[in-house]
Amino acid sequence: MTKGSVAMGKKSSKKNRIACRRCGKITYHIRQKTCSSCGFGRSSRLRSYNWKKEGK
Ligand SMILES: [Zn+2]
Repeated sequence: MTKGSVAMGKKSSKKNRIACRRCGKITYHIRQKTCSSCGFGRSSRLRSYNWKKEGK
């Protein structure tokens, strides 16, 4: 049984997300070709929802 940093080292084996060209976050999905953060690849406009509280 291992825990902590030893187990975390195995998390780098799968890589489905890379840095998004538009928002810069690691949320661009390679297989889906979409960014889950800004919607890059899915729509030309920025992804935004009313339920997402931004800017109080
Ligand atoms: Zn993005």
